[in-house]
Amino acid sequence: MTIRHHLSDNLLMAYAAGTLPEAFDLVVATHVSLCDECRARLGALEAVGGAVLEEGPRCAVADDSLAATLQRARSRGKEPIPAPVPRVGGFPEPLRGYVGGDVAGVRWRAIGGGVRQTILPTARGASARLLHIPAGARLPDHGHRGLELTQVLRGAFRDEDDRFGPGDIEIASEDTQHTPVAEPGEDCVCLIATDAPLRFTTMLPRIAQPFFRI
Ligand code: ZN
Ligand code: ZN
Repeated sequence: MTIRHHLSDNLLMAYAAGTLPEAFDLVVATHVSLCDECRARLGALEAVGGAVLEEGPRCAVADDSLAATLQRARSRGKEPIPAPVPRVGGFPEPLRGYVGGDVAGVRWRAIGGGVRQTILPTARGASARLLHIPAGARLPDHGHRGLELTQVLRGAFRDEDDRFGPGDIEIASEDTQHTPVAEPGEDCVCLIATDAPLRFTTMLPRIAQPFFRI
C-alpha cells in the first residue's frame, strides 16, 4: 500500500496528548496503524515530549501550552499502536473493537444513491461513521462547518483536491468544498469523523441530513 496523504503534525500531537474527541482519535489510530511514516512521526513527537520534560525548567520552551501538551502525551498511558499485521480484507486493529472484523459483518443502513453507512458508537463532540460508496457513485457536493477526516480503507475516491487511495487520509476543513466520487472498478469504504454537520448545497441531502446524522 502506497500512502500519499498523511496526518498533519498538529493532529499527531493532539492525538499523543489525548486531547482529540474519540471519533478523531479512532481515525488517527487507524491511519497510524496502516502508515509506517506517521507511526514514526508519532514516535518522534512523543520522544521530543519526553526530552523536553526531562530538561525541566532549564529548557527554554517559549510555549507553555506545548509543554503541557507533551506532559499529557507522556502521561496518557495509551498502549503504543502496533505495526500492522498483514491481513486479507479485514479492518485495521483500532476499528475492530467498534465494528468487528470486516465489511461483511457491518450493519449497513442505506442513505441514498446506493451509499450505505454505519454510525460508530463514539462519545459526543464528534461523530464517526463507515461509508460504503459503490464504484463510480458520488457523494453530494458539500462544505464543512468543522474538521472532517476521511480515511480510505479500500477502493479509492477522487474529489476536486486529489485522488485518495487505500491508506490515504483526507483532511477537510471550513475552506474545503468537495464532491467525492468513488473510482470505477471497486467499491470504496471509508472511515469518516466530523465534529460539525456538513454544509450541503442541494435540497435533498439537506432535508435528509438530520435523519442520517451527517
Ligand atoms: Zn501517514
Ligand atoms: Zn467532506
